[in-house]
This record gives sequence, C-alpha cells and structure tokens, in this order.
Amino acid sequence: MHQSHGQERVPVKVLAVLYDGGIHAEQVPELLGTTENELGIRKWLEDQGHTLVTTSDKDGENSTFDKELVDADIIITTPFHPGYLTAERLAKAKKLKLAITAGIGSDHVDLDAANKTNGGITVAEVTGSNVVSVAEHVIMTILVLVRNFVPAHEMVEQGRWDVAEAAKNEFDLEGKVVGTVAVGRIGERVLRRLRAFDCKELLYYDYQPLSAEKEKEIGCRRVDTLEEMLAQCDVVTINCPLHEKTRGLFNKDLIAKMKPGSWLVNTARGAIVVKEDVAAALKSGHLRGYGGDVWFPQPAPADHVLRTAKNPFGGGNAMVPHMSGTSIDAQIRYAAGTKAILESYLSGKRDYRPEDLIVYAGDYATRSYGERVVKN
Ligand code: NAP
Repeated sequence: MHQSHGQERVPVKVLAVLYDGGIHAEQVPELLGTTENELGIRKWLEDQGHTLVTTSDKDGENSTFDKELVDADIIITTPFHPGYLTAERLAKAKKLKLAITAGIGSDHVDLDAANKTNGGITVAEVTGSNVVSVAEHVIMTILVLVRNFVPAHEMVEQGRWDVAEAAKNEFDLEGKVVGTVAVGRIGERVLRRLRAFDCKELLYYDYQPLSAEKEKEIGCRRVDTLEEMLAQCDVVTINCPLHEKTRGLFNKDLIAKMKPGSWLVNTARGAIVVKEDVAAALKSGHLRGYGGDVWFPQPAPADHVLRTAKNPFGGGNAMVPHMSGTSIDAQIRYAAGTKAILESYLSGKRDYRPEDLIVYAGDYATRSYGERVVKN
C-alpha cells in the first residue's frame, strides 16, 4: 500500500502502552513487549529525532495514557495489556495518525471512530506474528482439559493421592469430535496440529470454506451453522475475532446448544463469551471445563468469575493470564513487525503489508472487522 503524505522527516511523538516487566524484563531482555524493553525501538526512534513515551498506566480518566495521547502522532498498544482506544480518547488525540497493535486483534480500538478521527487514521497490527504461539496454546489447553491435568496437579501439590478422583474426568483426545469457530490463520493451524491425535472428526464453522484440497489435506469438514457444529463437538475452540457479531456470542442460549459435558477453549477474546453464563454452565455441569487466556476487561479483576469457576464434579479450569500470543518467540516477531510498520510510516513510503492494515485511508481494510461492523 503506497500513499505518501509528504510529512516524512518531521519529528513525531510515539506513545506506547505496554505491560510492566519489572525484574523479569531485566532478567530476560527478549521480553520486548514490556514498558522496560519498549519493543526495542527507543534508540532507533531517538536517533532519528523522534520521541518515545512508554507507560502501562492506562485506566481511569487521569491515566498517563490519557494525558500523553493528546499530542501523540503514533500510539502503540498491545492486546496483552490493552490501552482501550475509545471514541472519547480518539477525540482527544488531535495529532494522531497511526495506531499500531503490537500483536494481533485491534478490537480494543474503536474502529468506527478511528475511521473518522483526524480525517481517518491508520490502524495496523502485526498479522501472523503469534498465530503459531496461540495454536500451540490451544492444543495444550485442549489436552490439559481433556486429560484433567489441573485438578490432578493441584491434588499432588496438596499432598493428596486419589487416582479415581483424578481419573473420573480424564479422557483420551483420540476419538473425540473437535470443532473450531473460525478457520483463519490460528483456527487452521489448530486443526493441522490436531491431525496427529486421531480425533473422530475435525469440524469448523467459518463464513468462508477452505478449499476442497485443504479440507482433504487437514481431514476436516465445514458445518453450515455454528449451532449444528456445537451440538456435535466434545471440544470447541474459539478462534474468531471480536467484533459486533461475536461480542457475547457464547451466551447461555448458545452454550445450551453445546454437548453436555463438553469443553470450551477461548484464546480469541474474553468478550466473545458471557463470563457469567460460562460460569453457570460449569456450575451446572453442562460444561466439563473451560480454558484459555483471554478476559474482559484486562487485567482481569481479582474477583473475575472465570478465575475460579469450575464444574463441581471435578472438571478443570485451565485459565491463565493473556499470554499465549506473547511467548518470547512471538514478542521478537511482533516487535519486529511493529518496527516495520513504524518504518513504513516514518519513511513516508507507506509501504505497509496489506494484511497488517485494519483501517486505512478512512475505511476498513479487512473483512472481519469491516464489512461485518459497517455493512451488516
Ligand atoms: P484471521 O486469520 O483474520 O482469522 C479470523 C477468521 O475468523 C477469518 O476466517 C474470519 O472470516 C473468521 N470469522 C470472523 N467472524 C466470524 C464468525 N462470527 N464466525 C466464524 N468465523 C468468523 O485471524 P487469526 O490470526 O486467526 O486470529 C483470530 C483472533 O485470535 C484474533 O482476531 C484475536 O482476537 C485472537 N488472537 C489472540 C491471541 C492471544 O494471545 N490469545 C493472539 C493472536 C490472536 P472472514 O475473514 O470472512 O471475516
């Protein structure tokens, strides 16, 4: 994508909202997504005469984020500690031209408002940067739940030994039906990795079908409706973006369509599920277990119901902080991708990778957020 704006070499202010690394960022400099290591871009920006302000303080009206965004030209945020770029905040960001998501998923940005901010800002993310990281986490979470790992491990830590208690919720993944909601970059990688487990069936629900060759190669099948898929699945993994059509999608009515005793894995976005409804389904036993790494809001408050919600019969809760897409390997990739987007902007070339663009030149550049939000 080329579009020169002719403002190239002017010094800019970049504001980065990242999570704190503390001692860990010192110990592991590759924790690039932290406020301490700043995606590795400080020297590079300052050598060119630009300014970088970094903070993790993002909530409440008087946050550093709110104060610093008023004269920022570029804002970098991350899904792992989302600086919510609401319409109100965008209205205050009078100089903003570019919002970069260091990672994948720009649902924390009000994209409709971004289209109208300062004549239309660019919103870009580092597409593909952590899709393997998330797919691996999904496979792990499915196994952790189906094999009943968490309660069994807690038992041994507590000094107890009750094989029957651990085994009554322990199954083999072989022979089970697994379905993914969406078969994009992550969903497809999840299915490919599941092939090795000799599942009974691998299903997917997405607007677009995979090619017949791909379906054959992976050994998967498309199901026409989400409800139809859920009714057949022992394990459901959510891999669609959060947009107006998926917000609160897994509410009590949809969860009721899932097979009794099934497992639900969500590494997509917390707001795709209604947390109270998931907790109630675990309590009633309808869901055997729930796992993943995404919450709403983030950081999850200490009393967030999904921190502890469990099936009283003993199925597991495999929730962790938002970490699947921020493995060390992923951080190196999304830091490099963020720098490449910055470079495209700062050089004036605007030679962005088309797949990174979410909102561009006052319009939606991707199908997932765009057409569904704007045209439906
Ligand atoms: P992707 O390649 O863009 O794939 C998303 C897929 O979802 C597309 O095929 C899209 O179809 C489909 N889709 C959209 N709405 C749907 C719906 N209502 N039902 C079924 N399918 C739907 O994205 P990705 O890289 O796989 O990432 C997916 C999501 O994972 C991201 O948006 C993000 O929220 C989440 N994520 C989480 C982490 C983490 O650390 N936990 C890291 C990375 C990403 P169309 O193209 O036709 O719209």
